[in-house]
Amino acid sequence: MTIKIGVIGTGAIGREHINRIENILSGGEVKAVTDVNQESAYKAVEDYNLDATVYPDDISLVGDENIDAVFVTSWGPAHEQSVLIAIEAGKYVFCEKPLATNAEGCLRIVEAEQKHGKRLVQVGFMRRYDEGYVQLKDALDNNEIGNPLMIRCSHRNPAVDENYKTNMAVTETLIHEIDALHWLINDNYESVRVDFPKKTKHSHAELQDPQVFTLKTQSGVLIQAEVFVNCKYGYDIQCEVMGEEGIAKLPEVASVVVRKESKVSSNILNDWKIRFMDAYNKELQNFLDSIEKIGEPQGPTSWDGYIAAVTADACLQAQESGEEVDINLQDTPDFYKKETAVWS
Ligand code: NAP
Repeated sequence: MTIKIGVIGTGAIGREHINRIENILSGGEVKAVTDVNQESAYKAVEDYNLDATVYPDDISLVGDENIDAVFVTSWGPAHEQSVLIAIEAGKYVFCEKPLATNAEGCLRIVEAEQKHGKRLVQVGFMRRYDEGYVQLKDALDNNEIGNPLMIRCSHRNPAVDENYKTNMAVTETLIHEIDALHWLINDNYESVRVDFPKKTKHSHAELQDPQVFTLKTQSGVLIQAEVFVNCKYGYDIQCEVMGEEGIAKLPEVASVVVRKESKVSSNILNDWKIRFMDAYNKELQNFLDSIEKIGEPQGPTSWDGYIAAVTADACLQAQESGEEVDINLQDTPDFYKKETAVWS
């Protein structure tokens, strides 16, 4: 079976996913595209040699009876509307983060999906498909280090441009840790505080960089998550979990070790797209395979999108206030209690 896909948003990540579906993965075919910038939609059809209809908007694309699944890859504020229309039409949805720009929007999606009666939506939190994170999660689930007590993690980019402001450390960067960490330790967040260390000279007037987020979970795990987006030296993701019996650490990305001229060296990546390329491929392949094999997606759910939205909102408040902010999540509906699966 080939799943026929409509792509809403043919910007950077939309084009990458189109390329994946057409040239790397199996079981899917892009049959429709749309973008507010129609030229961009036509260009995607041309560049990827698609046998696809260009629609003027998301409503008409979702209305195409031949489309089985919709990829929502437009800019964040447009996501909620497209996801709701797709659920209403009973189509599967792969939605890039954010699911919606606030908790209320995510809850509207959660309600619509439950009303539909089966899972349709997967949110694009690709870290869960990264081989290193999968190994780390296995180690924790198999109780190899006992109960987790503390997590120290870092999300470092070499540089960002002038459009990247202080709040984007949460919405564009930390958001991936927010999803990955509660999934890793099967725990929910309770509160967050933000500290701003001395600012790097490589930042600009509207960006505090670095930032340190201290999150507490309901079971008492303390998480220190550093975001440093002008670190200069490379794209570097670190995560170390301290447990009662030992420590489990995200593996380093494989790189040859060179010994030369009295030095030992290995390369650090520069680009997040390369760091998580396999994870992006796996998340989308899994989306397609799950629909074909069991008739519903099994990756991060709309509820995970809601958790991320509530937590991100508290992080933003903590940035503004300098205070510790409570993270108040509603109880998880039974509909979303089934453990989400991970594939390696
Ligand atoms: P982008 O290059 O700006 O692409 C977004 C596209 O959507 C643009 O072509 C934009 O058109 C279009 N668009 C805006 N409003 C629309 C609407 N109402 N209907 C249809 N299309 C609309 O951004 P991007 O980097 O691809 O990011 C897209 C989304 O993916 C964002 O939510 C982002 O956070 C997420 N993302 C996730 C990851 C990840 O690691 N999971 C990585 C990158 C991006 P205009 O250019 O004319 O505005």
